[in-house]
Amino acid sequence: MNEIIKLSNTTLVVTFRCNLKCKLCAVSAPYYKEPPHYSVELLKKSIDRYFEAVDHVDKFTVNGGEPLVHPQIAEIMDYALKYIDRMDMLEIITNGSIAPSKELAQVLQKSEKVDILIDDYGKELSKNVDKMIGIFEEYHIKYRRRKYYGSDAHLGGWVDLSNISLKDRSEEDTAQIYKNCAYPGPFHCFVLMGGKAYICGVYKRCVSEGVIPDIEDEYVDFLNDSWNLEVTKKKIANFYNRKFFSACKYCSG
Ligand code: SF4
Repeated sequence: MNEIIKLSNTTLVVTFRCNLKCKLCAVSAPYYKEPPHYSVELLKKSIDRYFEAVDHVDKFTVNGGEPLVHPQIAEIMDYALKYIDRMDMLEIITNGSIAPSKELAQVLQKSEKVDILIDDYGKELSKNVDKMIGIFEEYHIKYRRRKYYGSDAHLGGWVDLSNISLKDRSEEDTAQIYKNCAYPGPFHCFVLMGGKAYICGVYKRCVSEGVIPDIEDEYVDFLNDSWNLEVTKKKIANFYNRKFFSACKYCSG
């Protein structure tokens, strides 16, 4: 299967650890008793395997938890830059609470395709937005600020995906929920967590809490040595042919 694989969005979660505790966190980071945290070796291997199978991705996002709490975030970003010719944008999404180190700024300034998205939750939580912006401007690093508080919050504010319980819905209704969902749609198509790509953070939470089993047909395991490249590419293609995933039955969408 020599098919060229082009994806619109992929998010690499480097850690579920976070210095904030957002109730409606999109990946449910505060709900993990022991938030998964990934080693730099595992993340490098995940990036390599991903780009063995994927020819191009419009946007490759590094996220958490809070990605800047990962002590080796500079090394991880530098590694992702190896593949910058295969992406249109290399993004970090941060909560604006931790100013980047000089080491990180020096890495991020290596490409104009690097673009930082600062989610601003207000001065009390996103304490270092101004300092962060100062550093990005000094190093000529692109950034965007997304206001996430007040009546004019981005897209009307938080989306509540926290209620995970089997919903009383027909298969058709679940398929409609999935069809309208931002994850398979214009937002993230792929969330890489610990080497496995899932459709969204809700799926991972459902698996972690034992609500659903980790179903082989519903993820792409980039670190599975028994899968050859052809199998991996087929799995990616199958991702786009689904009516919905098991977790969607438990999700408000
Ligand atoms: S579980 Fe399904 S409906 Fe819910 S966020 Fe994920 S893809 Fe969307």
